Amino acid sequence: MVKKLLHNVLFKEIVKGLKTTFSHYFVKEVTVQYPHAKVPLPDTHRGALCLLKYEDGKERCVGCDLCEAACPSHCIRVVSAVEEEENEVVRYATEFDIDITKCVFCGFCVEACPVNALGMTKIYEYSTNNKRDLIFDKPKLYEIGDLAYQEAKRYLVAHHQEGEDEIASEYRYRFPSLHGEIPEPVAKVEPEQNTE
Ligand code: SF4
Ligand code: SF4
Repeated sequence: MVKKLLHNVLFKEIVKGLKTTFSHYFVKEVTVQYPHAKVPLPDTHRGALCLLKYEDGKERCVGCDLCEAACPSHCIRVVSAVEEEENEVVRYATEFDIDITKCVFCGFCVEACPVNALGMTKIYEYSTNNKRDLIFDKPKLYEIGDLAYQEAKRYLVAHHQEGEDEIASEYRYRFPSLHGEIPEPVAKVEPEQNTE
């Protein structure tokens, strides 16, 4: 009885609570006051996807569809066409869409691309009330690529897909026409006629 009375008079529970509260004044805070402060992201971060160009402004994408085939969410759509009439193997993407609402940011499309035309950036603030805004079309993907070119390049380096040195362009396949070497179309082999 006396013990209970003392317990109530001395507000023991309140003192205990205040002790816990004040102890946090001396601990390094871990909460970041987003959006006023932001956590620095690593180069490997998988943010908004983008399309990249070469240093001379030429589009890297050759419309090969490998990214579309690699995507587990089926959210990429590529439509390609012949770029140079004299050589039908030289192609480019006329349309390129990524439905970001379905994307799981696995990075498989970036890995699958033979020319490092796709990259991932550290951009993550693109929430919207309109779902249609989250279908990134070709102009939008190049816009992000131009805006965050260095981030996308660092992503490729961090994932060992491209180097930082002068021979960076040698790390992955580069379309021959960019080196001024247009390959001859492969001659069609006609099946031999059986004359017997
Ligand atoms: S990151 Fe993954 S889910 Fe998103 S588009 Fe690329 S392959 Fe598809
Ligand atoms: S982004 Fe890469 S993998 Fe996808 S179509 Fe273009 S060249 Fe091919």
